[in-house]
Amino acid sequence: MSIRPDIPLGHTTPAHQTFGWCSYCPDRSPAEELAAWQTRELRRMADETATTETLAAALSPAERTMLDYALNQAQLRMWSVGGYTAEEQAALVSLRRLTADEPAAGARQDGAQS
Ligand SMILES: [Zn+2]
Repeated sequence: MSIRPDIPLGHTTPAHQTFGWCSYCPDRSPAEELAAWQTRELRRMADETATTETLAAALSPAERTMLDYALNQAQLRMWSVGGYTAEEQAALVSLRRLTADEPAAGARQDGAQS
């Protein structure tokens, strides 16, 4: 790692790169730095949720249907074959959110009869 002349020796490099300060800086505390990291992470997670909702809104009803179909096939295959990782299962659950986030339109209501 290269020495950053703008970061005082003994201070926390990631915090300085991210916030421009760290808990070793004068007038700063560890609690303050922890709060800054937590706020940053919460904001990042909120951005991720917004991205998922934007992606879901961009899908047409047919695309949503096909994604749902593909995910069902993937889930069945994972269960029958086994050996899938928790990460793969989490990815499937994450993708399924794209199919579930339908705008509550009336397009589905007449589907029950046919
Ligand atoms: Zn510092």
